[in-house]
Amino acid sequence: PIEAVRKGVEIIGSKVGDRINVKGVGTTGSGRYLIGDFVGADMVINEITAQATAAADIDNSVDTIFEIGGQDSKFISLEDGVIVDFEMNKVCAAGTGSFLEEQAERFDIKIEDFGDIALKAESPLNLGERCTVFMETNVYSHYQKGASIEDILGGLAYSITMNYINRVVGRKKIGKKIFFQGAVAFNRSVIAAFENYLGKEIIVPENHEVTGAIGAAIKVLENSHKKTKFRGFENISKVSYSHSSFECKGCPNRCEIKKISIKGQPSLFYGGRCEKYEKGDSKSSDIPDYFAERENFLLNSYEPKDNKGAKKVGIPYAMLTHEFYPFWNAFFTELGFDFVLSDKTNKKIINDGLQCSVAETCFPMKTTLGHVQNLLEKGVDYLFLPTTRDMPTKEKNIKGDRTGSYPCPFIQGTWSIVKSAINTGEVKILTPILNFSFKEYIKEKQLTKLGKELGRDRRSIKKAIRQAHLAQNKFYSSVKKRGKEVLSSLKDDEIAIVITSRSYNSCDRAISMDVPKKLRELGFKVIPIDYLPVDSIDLSKEWPNLYWEFGDRIMSAAEIIKKDRRLYPVYITNFGCGPDSFILQYFEREMDRPFLRLEVDEHSAGAGVITRCEAFIDSLMNVRNKKDFPPTQTKTKGKDAVFKKSQGRVIYIPYMGDGAVVLRSAFRSEGINAEMLYSDDETLELGRKYTLGKECYPFIITTGDIIKTLKHNDPKKVAFFMPQTYGPCRFGQ
Ligand code: SF4
Ligand code: SF4
Repeated sequence: PIEAVRKGVEIIGSKVGDRINVKGVGTTGSGRYLIGDFVGADMVINEITAQATAAADIDNSVDTIFEIGGQDSKFISLEDGVIVDFEMNKVCAAGTGSFLEEQAERFDIKIEDFGDIALKAESPLNLGERCTVFMETNVYSHYQKGASIEDILGGLAYSITMNYINRVVGRKKIGKKIFFQGAVAFNRSVIAAFENYLGKEIIVPENHEVTGAIGAAIKVLENSHKKTKFRGFENISKVSYSHSSFECKGCPNRCEIKKISIKGQPSLFYGGRCEKYEKGDSKSSDIPDYFAERENFLLNSYEPKDNKGAKKVGIPYAMLTHEFYPFWNAFFTELGFDFVLSDKTNKKIINDGLQCSVAETCFPMKTTLGHVQNLLEKGVDYLFLPTTRDMPTKEKNIKGDRTGSYPCPFIQGTWSIVKSAINTGEVKILTPILNFSFKEYIKEKQLTKLGKELGRDRRSIKKAIRQAHLAQNKFYSSVKKRGKEVLSSLKDDEIAIVITSRSYNSCDRAISMDVPKKLRELGFKVIPIDYLPVDSIDLSKEWPNLYWEFGDRIMSAAEIIKKDRRLYPVYITNFGCGPDSFILQYFEREMDRPFLRLEVDEHSAGAGVITRCEAFIDSLMNVRNKKDFPPTQTKTKGKDAVFKKSQGRVIYIPYMGDGAVVLRSAFRSEGINAEMLYSDDETLELGRKYTLGKECYPFIITTGDIIKTLKHNDPKKVAFFMPQTYGPCRFGQ
């Protein structure tokens, strides 16, 4: 981007440089910090704020902005000219201009002509909206079957529109006055598709392709600068610079640092995860790092003994270790082992994990594999990969039929994922099954069995168990105590951010992309979820079957946040997280105020995360003075259905296995008409339409089957049989 900017500045300078007086300079867009340093910007403004500022300047009554550019897209909600909510597209390119451009190129059509041709479509094709690969396949197969170019391009205009509405806007509210900004707004067929689908007018403002730049300029003018830092047209256009990159060996992160050397000026550096090279104007120095505090409680709740020279038991510093390290550290150390923790997640660990991943799991799971490799490199004798069947939880969660609160199946099955991915050689894997919430005596039995397996006697095992509980309780009570102090220290008008996520997401700096630190640098206190009194919240009435422990904590945190005007959530999740395909939707439904959702994986870029954080903070500053948050969308609860044989309804049973056939026969033998739900193309189409697409395939199919059945039958004549479970997979949700 540097050369493009240099040339641009040169052209502007040659045309108007001698006639204008530059009052200030702002940069925006994904390269805004780099270019800001290069040109000497007075302000660096995130794209969302810049787009919103321009729109509000053009028309202060605009309440909705659709912005679709070449590489990404944004949705912004405004009230009285200020941002109250926003979303950016995720990794998928399906809803961006570059996708349309690629498709136009396939048919040798200039992107400028796309819109006019598409508007001639007689019957735009349904090409799907989910993913570029599917869409491309659909385009190809329709073309082969003789579909017209007009209908294909018309279909693509609808695809990009639907992708935007479903994947970017989601459940957010589309207002009355909609501006369409970004270069894709040149495409008249996309405007028509939006208008047709929404039944609302879409306004394309003048200079819509550069509204970001206009917004940045307005922001700079609003914040008048006595003397601009602008380097001048001449200096920039004649600047002699070079760029290079190197790997920093300062720590195992091995960041790739990009260096821009400019003659006569200090060099510029980008790409480091720490401040070794980049020294910004961070406001974080006085704000306590609660995540570092929590880590200190985690690692130091047990006074370690020196068992050097003893057999080494290694545990990955990943997943539930962020919760149970005190317990296992005490247990194994008391048993006389050298208890070894893998290094903190770093680039090498992530890469090692990705390389040996054999299945498409979530990012934390892939990283866990890298931690296992790290332990093998440390020469451990044992790998400790327990199956934690359930976790410590509120008493209400272990009453009745429910026997606990579970982690997700990936966590429970970590050892089997490791075994299938990594050759651990001579190293023995310890894989005890452990219950932390289901009946105390079982846990004792399980731990005793583990101790015996390691050749220890009953007395020392008992002592180790006692010390393990003491250490774990010390950790929990330190976290709770500190959380209480932190919450009571917040001023009435203060804004603090709560990271609502699983501990292994938020407390692992590499996995969270250091979001807590980034938010602190923006000047806010950032609180771990377990600093909130989540145990005190009873969800048993509202969410009786929330059987995932972290889901319970997240929804409990939502209740606490809703009652405290000072708290705002940032929800960190991962692409492909099974439980979050439900929990996140529950959370969204419950939350009454803006919150930032960050989906992180190995492809996430730091710049995108910073943009989201900055825009989120801007929106918070705008809503903080509002007296009331919008009322929570209340769950629509119908009357509990009662099935009466006399109603003559047909019971439809999803095909979850051959047992469903037996069930059908059982109903029939009682004189009740029962049928199986059989899936076809329509099932899949409807299922995909009415789900977010993050849920598992069986859920999408079952949803599609139910909707299809309702569509083709009188709803008064059908009933559905949907079995329940207590987890740990998604079925019970
Ligand atoms: S985190 Fe800092 S010290 Fe470590 S590799 Fe990156 S720039 Fe170097
Ligand atoms: S809960 Fe989500 S992030 Fe955690 S292990 Fe399961 S799928 Fe991965």
